[in-house]
Amino acid sequence: MTSKQQLLDELKARIVSDDPTPELRSGATQLVFADGNPEAEVVFIGEAPGKNEDEQGKPFVGAAGKFLNEMLEMIGLKRENIYITNIVKYRPPNNRDPLPDEKEKFLPYLQEQLDIIQPKLIVCLGRHSMDVLLPGLKISQVHGQPKRYNGQVYLPLFHPAAALYNVDMRQTLVDDFARIPIILKKIETNS
Ligand code: URA
Repeated sequence: MTSKQQLLDELKARIVSDDPTPELRSGATQLVFADGNPEAEVVFIGEAPGKNEDEQGKPFVGAAGKFLNEMLEMIGLKRENIYITNIVKYRPPNNRDPLPDEKEKFLPYLQEQLDIIQPKLIVCLGRHSMDVLLPGLKISQVHGQPKRYNGQVYLPLFHPAAALYNVDMRQTLVDDFARIPIILKKIETNS
């Protein structure tokens, strides 16, 4: 049987050969596909790679990633226990927001990635990943509240980079993050 890792490797190679966003690709160092464990119960989805991620080829390795690691530690998890990726997989120039068209082009690949992993919980980090997976919601109104959509449970959270230097948002994100183990337990007992 083909392993999840093999399927993900094939998907990564296919994104490179399909070249869905030639403009983004030509300005970036490399494709930033994912990090972590394909057998994970929780998948985190960010927005797009930044400078550090573009250089190292891994998502969330800069300041936002450090903060994310601290919050993971707080709930007893490490990078090896989770799977992490972004909606857009090439760094947008000058760290601008990903464009709607770029998010749309990467969405089918993200969906395939999630179909392979089949996580119990998908955590959307920030409004960009929430918009594509849970359309029509406002992050300021739904952050920290699990949402069931098409049979999958999602948890929208503020983006760690947005919360990094904003004291109130930072505390809200930490409080929301602390609910992840409780939400996972609930999913287990209901399934
Ligand atoms: N912000 C993101 O959304 N993704 C990364 O990989 C890094 C920072």
